[in-house]
Amino acid sequence: MSTSPPWTKNLVEAVRRGLAALYKEPPMTAVEWADKHFYLSSESSYQEGRWVTAPFQVAILNAMGNDLIRTVNVIKSARVGYTKMLMANHGYKVQHKRRNLLMFCPTDPDAEGMMKRHVDTMIRDVPVLLALAPWHGKKHSDNTLDAKCFENKKMLWCLGGKAARNYREKSPDEVVYDELSKFDADIECEGSPTMLGDKRLEGSTYKKSIRGSTPGIAGQCQVSRAAEKSSRFMRFHIKAPCCGAEQTLKWGGPDEPYGLKWRKDDNGEVAGAWYLCEHCQGGTFEYHEMVAAAEQTGRYICDRTGIWTRDSMEWFRADDKPIAPPRTVTFHIWTIYSTFTTWADIAAERLEVGNDRGKLKTFVNTTLGEVWEEDETEKVSWEQLRERREVYAAPVPARCAVLTGGIDTQDDRYELRVWGWGGGEESWLIYRRILTGDPASAELLRQVGIELHRQFSRADGSKMGVMRWCWDSGGHHSETVRAQSRKHGVHWVIPIFGASTYGKPIANFPRKKEKKSRTYLTEVGTDNAKEVIYNRLRLQADGDRPVQGLIHFPADDAICDEDELKQLTSETKKWVLVKGRRVLRWDASKRRNEALDCFVYALAAVRISRERFGLDLEALAAELNPDTRVWEVPAEPDVSAEHGEEEAAQDEPQEPEAAPAELEAEPHEIPSPEPPEDGGFLGLGDNPWLQ
Ligand SMILES: [Zn+2]
Repeated sequence: MSTSPPWTKNLVEAVRRGLAALYKEPPMTAVEWADKHFYLSSESSYQEGRWVTAPFQVAILNAMGNDLIRTVNVIKSARVGYTKMLMANHGYKVQHKRRNLLMFCPTDPDAEGMMKRHVDTMIRDVPVLLALAPWHGKKHSDNTLDAKCFENKKMLWCLGGKAARNYREKSPDEVVYDELSKFDADIECEGSPTMLGDKRLEGSTYKKSIRGSTPGIAGQCQVSRAAEKSSRFMRFHIKAPCCGAEQTLKWGGPDEPYGLKWRKDDNGEVAGAWYLCEHCQGGTFEYHEMVAAAEQTGRYICDRTGIWTRDSMEWFRADDKPIAPPRTVTFHIWTIYSTFTTWADIAAERLEVGNDRGKLKTFVNTTLGEVWEEDETEKVSWEQLRERREVYAAPVPARCAVLTGGIDTQDDRYELRVWGWGGGEESWLIYRRILTGDPASAELLRQVGIELHRQFSRADGSKMGVMRWCWDSGGHHSETVRAQSRKHGVHWVIPIFGASTYGKPIANFPRKKEKKSRTYLTEVGTDNAKEVIYNRLRLQADGDRPVQGLIHFPADDAICDEDELKQLTSETKKWVLVKGRRVLRWDASKRRNEALDCFVYALAAVRISRERFGLDLEALAAELNPDTRVWEVPAEPDVSAEHGEEEAAQDEPQEPEAAPAELEAEPHEIPSPEPPEDGGFLGLGDNPWLQ
């Protein structure tokens, strides 16, 4: 029982509070402060109790705390304790470092929720903060829904990020953006949220900008854009318990060669989950082994430069030489390292999502902490294409107006494909031939010559030759192919090479012959062609009606077997950095794709014919099928909107044109685009374009 009179208690309290504002602790890192003072309040945490910084959180929390690091981006999944780290950082900054903080949440209600659920409970449960907040739980001008003023005169604002006025008139030392991917890209036409918010830091000695978020959609997500600007992209690595090989843990699933794996029980539920090592053959480890390894060996390593840190206080180059902390740094962290969930739970979540695109996007964003790549899941599988194969009524279906061919040159063979084209570039795979042998040998070239002239019968009984060929003349046999072009006709057999830069037109037929080879050596924009083809592969047949761009495959294994379809679908788009920008690029990952290349060349051949030789596919198609002359074509996916030729072509600097000295002047070389009088290539057998 206290013997002091009641007023002494108040006096002691007043003195204590007065001194609290003056008291200065010995310097601590954010992690040290959090481990000593921070507390997980029951309202805002799964588990109430004293905070212990998890191994994967140490570097992130200290990066928030370290004054030498000015910008911290955190790309994260759910359940990595990010909001708690922010709160621990807030407490550390206000109480230990005496800084003014301005925090933005996506909306005003988000900001209010953050204040009530996280800030108020932290003040209540962390004694060193409560000592600075005599107004806690009371109505007071220092205690409002969007701002707290502590007894050491330090401010904590928490505001919605939608209104431009919220980004004005405050002078914080630190601006924090929570869930940046949910912010508007442009705040009331005044600029991006990070630009507006970071402006508030101009007067501060210890400027700091912290941006964290689960990612959104690739290309649109602001946190990944912010991260792109940062040359330090840190991922958490551990030494695998199986073999000691250091690696960053990745999503796995049934289709990947390594990563998180699981087995199901008889009810289809997850019965166990483990990690299949990326480095040793078949090595595995379990969740609790990962947690132990993270504790002992975990460190963040930069994808781009190899610099590394364990705690964000000491930084090292790839060769372990100490360096100063970077001014800007991005961390990526995801649920697999979380100490708040298990791998079996992650696997169960994935199973529950199934193939639902909306749920899958959420899973990718919030559990994997990755941006959602629109293209990845829209890709057509070879199985889907196999189901769509059709029995053609004749080698060439009735709606094909013309045939073009593509030839891929390999070191031990030529691969040929013939494609038929109708109105709206609806297309049919007609023929496949693989000729093996020495590509330079007279014998193999003789065989190719025969194939070039092959005739095909159409459903209406007419015979058709191939109107134009594009033949791959890059690589080792370029001279051979160019010589064949001269031999068979420079307008008929076009030597081509793939463009080395992105965004080129599908076929860039030159106005003049290339001087050395005396051929119309044509650059093919393979990326654009693949874009067109992959968009079209998604199109579905509409009964027997013509569909613009639709691609047909014959139910004939000699032409279109499993292997053909696998090759056609072999490429995916991957994000790569080009001149500091993240862009999508096609990537076959070393799988065979001659079938796709041949299709690209056949498409280039039809484009050359249309653009430079006056081929009018629509007119021919209408003539061929009078009853379908007036048809409504469903809109083809708008490839030009995002990745189209025109836009892409302007998007990146063009390669310089070939030196004029290389070209000879032959201004009248290209034939008149008038179609031949006899009705053109629909005639019986003779291809007038050969003349
Ligand atoms: Zn291993």
